[in-house]
Amino acid sequence: MAQQEDVFKKIVSHCKEYGFVFPSSDIYDGLGAVYDYGQNGVELKNNIKQYWWQSMVLLHENIVGIDAAIFMHPTTWKASGHVDAFNDPLIDNRDSKKRYRADVLIEEQMAKYEDKIQKEIEKAQKRFGDSFDEAKFRATNERVLENQKKYDDLHHRFQEVMNAEGGIDLDGLKQIILDEGIVCPISGTRNWTDVRQFNLMFKTEMGSTADGASTIYLRPETAQGIFVNYLNVQKTGRMKLPFGIAQIGKAFRNEIVARQFIFRMREFEQMEMQFFIQPGTELDWFQKWKAYRMKWHQNLGFGAENYRFHDHDKLAHYANAATDIEFRMPFGFKEVEGIHSRTNFDLSQHAKYSGKKIEYFDPDTNESYTPYVIETSIGVDRMFLSIMCHSYEEQLLPDGQTRTVLHLPAALAPVKLAVFPLTKKDGMPEKAQEIINDLRFHFNCKYEEKDQIGKRYRRMDAIGCPYCVTVDQQTLEDNTVTLRDRDTMEQKRVAISDLRGIIEDKVSITSLLKKLL
Ligand code: ATP
Repeated sequence: MAQQEDVFKKIVSHCKEYGFVFPSSDIYDGLGAVYDYGQNGVELKNNIKQYWWQSMVLLHENIVGIDAAIFMHPTTWKASGHVDAFNDPLIDNRDSKKRYRADVLIEEQMAKYEDKIQKEIEKAQKRFGDSFDEAKFRATNERVLENQKKYDDLHHRFQEVMNAEGGIDLDGLKQIILDEGIVCPISGTRNWTDVRQFNLMFKTEMGSTADGASTIYLRPETAQGIFVNYLNVQKTGRMKLPFGIAQIGKAFRNEIVARQFIFRMREFEQMEMQFFIQPGTELDWFQKWKAYRMKWHQNLGFGAENYRFHDHDKLAHYANAATDIEFRMPFGFKEVEGIHSRTNFDLSQHAKYSGKKIEYFDPDTNESYTPYVIETSIGVDRMFLSIMCHSYEEQLLPDGQTRTVLHLPAALAPVKLAVFPLTKKDGMPEKAQEIINDLRFHFNCKYEEKDQIGKRYRRMDAIGCPYCVTVDQQTLEDNTVTLRDRDTMEQKRVAISDLRGIIEDKVSITSLLKKLL
């Protein structure tokens, strides 16, 4: 674990050193849980967004996009339930003065029991090899059974407390923390305060006080911008159910615990899609969207073993089914995306609060009804982090040297091709520029002439550039260059005229999208 934490620290420094992510207002020592994306980060982030947008909007005839404003009428948040219920239960440790989410402390305790079970299984797997029967081992091994019971008991109690009548049972949460002997990771003590509710929405004011300024909120999710536009889009787009509306945009949450770099931010970006359907079909669509979203993630080639679904114990006030897609980060399996069956809660609430009729007239059945909704909601920044974590490698090379390389999926890499003149003379720089001038319309290219070629390769490996081309003496004679592959480090001689075809196939988002069909 300690080793994994070290790796995570290295990834964070790498992000800063190579222009991916900087602390916000860095010269003023940063601002808690707010970050800026640098010259390479913004490219990677844009590519992630493009991959998502195109897979949703381009590949689905019945999904369209919108871009709603961050500021919304304040009644929106009353109707959605956020003013009354968008709370996290917080608890303080009196000795360290550190604040935690009480539910997260308990979830981490459950994860510890799961880890112990997993370790026993892995040990036994090694010992027994091919003859290992996991189901039998789980049913009979004493240590596994003991930890499974602890997990099940805690899980059961946690569910009861989180789903208590009238909202979360705050005293019950504290009692679990005390009974489980959960200590503050900083002070190591159990000197806990009571658990309190904390609303996560940021408030600000619109208009001057003289006009009677009104309190408005920075949106804590992009979804409500879609719900309030349901009628506009359905009517102007003449959309027939089932159909979806997709949106990418900023969201803001005054998170209690803001650690782990860009995993939990106070200003972040979401990619959300609301899929409007006929009531009664929601569980079927829920399964379909679960499968499609998992496919989208696994399509990046990070290995199926690094993903899992985590079904929710506590359903949000609007949901009748919910799951998370979790990815194996260096600090454990963590949520990257949520898929929720939100019933007709949001549309009904907006109808109630606005006094407008928000329904769908079904021409097939001649009936009007309020559509149900399946939502897929993914954080751009968490996706970015999962890609960084999985791609980062400190590789020991056969000659004893090491290199730091980002094995980014080529289609998402910030720079696709670097072109180097071997030396700064004999027309090589001009030839290199010529190649770039030709290819820059097709993908992001970079020119580098400083330092030896080896150093230039290392710099490109560190930003995950999949291809490097070197222009040398021979190029001037026969219009061929050496093409070097980031992952294998293999170099081959190719004609300049073939470069576009070879590279484009590997780096285009289109090839990634084709694999989704
Ligand atoms: P968590 O339980 O980790 O707080 P959540 O369940 O509240 O997350 P949702 O409301 O389902 O998250 O939001 C959908 C997605 O938005 C999440 O899966 C995550 O990728 C992203 N997200 C939510 N909160 C943050 C945050 N503070 N920083 C970065 N991304 C976030």
